[in-house]
Amino acid sequence: MLNIVLFGPPGAGKGTQSEKLIEKYKLTHLSTGDLFRKHLGEGTELGILAKKYMDQGHLVPDEVVIQMVEDKISSTPDSKGFIFDGFPRTTAQAEALDTMLQKNEMSISGMIALDVPEDILRERIKERGKTSGRADDQDDEKITTRIKVYLSETLPVAKYYENQGKFTKIHGVGQIEEIFQNISEVIDAY
Ligand code: AMP
Repeated sequence: MLNIVLFGPPGAGKGTQSEKLIEKYKLTHLSTGDLFRKHLGEGTELGILAKKYMDQGHLVPDEVVIQMVEDKISSTPDSKGFIFDGFPRTTAQAEALDTMLQKNEMSISGMIALDVPEDILRERIKERGKTSGRADDQDDEKITTRIKVYLSETLPVAKYYENQGKFTKIHGVGQIEEIFQNISEVIDAY
């Protein structure tokens, strides 16, 4: 079973690469951002709660995210594996994910981190904002907050997987197909 954490700052290309990876490896895409946006669109209690944080570029509290991920994993028992996209975003989430997977006799195969410089991230997010309709993609201040939150709260998660010998960094600028090939090579070696 393949369980991959696709990691990187907002705008790194995690969503784009996830789409290609789920097709190639027949994995289940688990994007916590997408799940929150789905709840938001459906106007659920969870969506209303998450919106406060998302609109500001802050993280949704760990316990809320963890519960949502646990529900998604247990409702997909026949999966060949997962691509975790935008999760875990804190060390507490990474620990909770390990515990969750252990309970189901699963584990993380590896983390693949997409490395993209900040000026390119900003350009990409604003470009995406023209069509995504996402409030958090359209405002410079919110983009700055998201990058700051990534650096302070999320970056330590890379260390967590590095300590387990499960970390690989990939250059995330260039042709989508070329980046995809580089990611695939890492996965094929798991
Ligand atoms: P994303 O689509 O991954 O950029 O996520 C959009 C927003 O959803 C983030 O800025 C957070 O507010 C929230 N979010 C998504 N995933 C997480 C997570 N794992 N932990 C906390 N908040 C999250």
